[in-house]
Amino acid sequence: MLRHIVLKLYILVLVLGFSVHAYADPACTALLRSIHDQTKLVNYAIDLDKMYSRINHLAAKYPNEFKLSHAFEYDGMPVLRIDMPSRSTSPKARVIITAGVHGNEAIGTASLVDVLEDIVQNPKFRNHYDFVIYPAINPSGLAENSRYLRNGVDLNRTFKPGEESNLTQLFKDSLKGERFDLGIDMHEAYTKPGFFVIKAQEDDKAYVEGVLAGVDQNYIFKSPTGQYPYNVPNTKNPNVTSYVLESPGVTVSMNQGTLKSFFKEELGVSHSYTLEASGQIELTTRQEYFKNLVLKFVENF
Ligand SMILES: [Zn+2]
Repeated sequence: MLRHIVLKLYILVLVLGFSVHAYADPACTALLRSIHDQTKLVNYAIDLDKMYSRINHLAAKYPNEFKLSHAFEYDGMPVLRIDMPSRSTSPKARVIITAGVHGNEAIGTASLVDVLEDIVQNPKFRNHYDFVIYPAINPSGLAENSRYLRNGVDLNRTFKPGEESNLTQLFKDSLKGERFDLGIDMHEAYTKPGFFVIKAQEDDKAYVEGVLAGVDQNYIFKSPTGQYPYNVPNTKNPNVTSYVLESPGVTVSMNQGTLKSFFKEELGVSHSYTLEASGQIELTTRQEYFKNLVLKFVENF
């Protein structure tokens, strides 16, 4: 009898221990894996094998809706491209969405796979929009949980004509001659308390405010004083301003080296954005919110 109770207690401890571990472990969020490296800013990274398998599954399940190709190879790894042409002959917009430019911002890629799963059979999206999606532009950066390319270059500074890295050039070549209306590049900012949008143009105030009004206000990056414009201090050097929030969750940057500037300057995109997820929000919520924010940008276009 006593042996029985001891065994039951032992099992209970095991189960409880496992649940606590599973809850605290970022790997419990689908597509992310835990990493244990003190030199890294975050303790999770994308699980590329799981990502490829989820995407391959969609391609097999929806062969007429979801066209998967290898746009090119880099560092011996495929860079995936997904085309979902509109079911209409006159779509409202051509949309390009990218993630994984910074390999240590895994939530962008994880959320973009969720976006794919949501839109593939949803008539609200499929009837009116052409989609071109690159879920993991910098696969070796994602595999190694590194912001940089293997040569130490920040990919999101290499899109200015004449300053392309090899990867940038391959990416540009894969889109040669194509035009888009809406461009979204998904990132993650660990230290920021809320999500925010970095616009590549000034003349889209009503659209962006409409998008942000349609999502939960609790997760939007706001000025702590309620005053705007708000100079967001740099995390490492508070005397330097990283961004200026012109209203809750909204900032502008005309930096020519970024992917969003390439969308605008070379692909004809009239509405081009970097979206930054907040690193300070619980991971499952963060991933879900990021997906909904992207879908809201499309829906409102
Ligand atoms: Zn980034």
